[in-house]
Amino acid sequence: MSNATFEPDVFVMEACSGSDCAGSCPGSCPVEAVALDDCDAGEADEARARRWRHQRHRQMLWMSCVVVGLSFLLQVRPGGLVAFHALESYPLPQSCLSRSLFGIDCPGCGLTRSFVYLAHGQWRESLAIHRLGWLLAVSILLQFPYRILGLRHPEGLPLGRRIPVWYGRMLIFLLIANWVVLLFE
Ligand SMILES: [Zn+2]
Repeated sequence: MSNATFEPDVFVMEACSGSDCAGSCPGSCPVEAVALDDCDAGEADEARARRWRHQRHRQMLWMSCVVVGLSFLLQVRPGGLVAFHALESYPLPQSCLSRSLFGIDCPGCGLTRSFVYLAHGQWRESLAIHRLGWLLAVSILLQFPYRILGLRHPEGLPLGRRIPVWYGRMLIFLLIANWVVLLFE
């Protein structure tokens, strides 16, 4: 490295790798003339990630509204299909690909009916149709405070990165474990 000015990549690495630079580049880089390009790129990535998180929070908030709304608007018909209250003669078609194509229940089979039963206060029916329906329903209700806090949080990470990831993994693990147990029952 003969002259930092002519080797911006190397120089930038030196200038920007310090912790004082990361995440607060504009105006804070020790050698702005050379380092800002790289800092701006990092900053742009972080800004994109923030925008993506906020967009995700908005999407999940809407999805949760739809799920909760449908749970109240639908009812379970005697055949096991669900239908809107005012359109009881027109049940919605079977939506599970696994069951439609192979006749096998998937780990999520029964969740819609479980939510619908819960929304109507039928706890026993909800548990009978899916043992984890209540847990998923609570998780959907928790989306409201979590996503609203996420939208208000500057980074979009009100609980940090790990807790939401591990919570999601726990739900997936429990759904699959429940499904495996059902296969042997
Ligand atoms: Zn299914």
